[in-house]
Amino acid sequence: MVAEVIDGKAFAAKVRAQVADQVAKLKEQSGITPGLAVVLVGEDPASQVYVRSKGKQTVEVGMNSYEHKLDAETSEEDLLALIDKLNNDPAVHGILVQLPLPKHLNEDLVINSIDPAKDVDGFHISNVGLLGTGQKSMVPCTPLGCLMMLRDYHGSLSGMDAVVIGRSNIVGKPMAQLLLGDSCTVTIAHSRTKDLPDVVRRADIVVAAVGRPEMVPGDWIKEGATVIDVGINRIERDGKNKLVGDVDYASAAERAGAITPVPGGVGPMTIACLLANTLTACCRANSLPEPEGLTV
Ligand code: NAD
Repeated sequence: MVAEVIDGKAFAAKVRAQVADQVAKLKEQSGITPGLAVVLVGEDPASQVYVRSKGKQTVEVGMNSYEHKLDAETSEEDLLALIDKLNNDPAVHGILVQLPLPKHLNEDLVINSIDPAKDVDGFHISNVGLLGTGQKSMVPCTPLGCLMMLRDYHGSLSGMDAVVIGRSNIVGKPMAQLLLGDSCTVTIAHSRTKDLPDVVRRADIVVAAVGRPEMVPGDWIKEGATVIDVGINRIERDGKNKLVGDVDYASAAERAGAITPVPGGVGPMTIACLLANTLTACCRANSLPEPEGLTV
């Protein structure tokens, strides 16, 4: 079997176009422009790239982008004061604090100080609880993007066996909740899982979110399974820098029914879902109908 490639780049462009269309209608009908504030503390190079990209795409879909770049030595008090200001700013519908934060800042405290209604990353403990109990919440962007691609490919996921490799709060756990919400039978595998190959071989859906280059070989994949590769790993091969996923793409593509590539799979969907979440937050804040197909 040769897998169908799930083109996350094209899918993300479609989501962005949908968001842009709805933002234009929102502006025309109610005069409201959704606004996203991104807070970056310090000069981590990867974070700077992500923040730039988020700002650019926010503006491209017609939303307002507010970037707050703070010194690496910024105190917790000053950061919390900025978040408080953004929480109370009616022009700001979404707040994202770029992670990781410098070591002297308490990430949990900072994230939980964001107004849950503006928590477009979906990391606030209230949103985690709402998602876990099947209530309306802000859903973390990367798992939301994965779910959108899975729903688009399969239609219903009901009754499918899904294995999520990785149990982080950002990807693994919310991904498992979303799959459970769509009536999959979900297994969460992690670094202590006994016989990972056996667990993965049972799965109709495999979501790999580990951060280990090409650790899932093709012979772990059940014939015809759908593989969503969240991993983004920088490696050097043949003297060149390369991005690879957590799945060995070449061998997995020979057995899977469908697979996301790296790059061009899950990655582009993450920012598209951030924009979708900002639009959703704006609609909720203004008691307007939520955009269709862009939320869970
Ligand atoms: P993390 O380090 O927080 O979590 C990794 C998880 O993998 C842990 O739960 C750990 O138990 C598990 N793990 C580690 N070694 C393992 C092993 N040998 N076998 C099975 N499980 C193992 O990472 P994260 O933040 O969840 O990110 C995971 C990957 O996804 C990284 O490569 C990251 O860059 C990528 N990522 C991509 C996007 C995107 O937009 N595409 C977004 C977030 C994360």
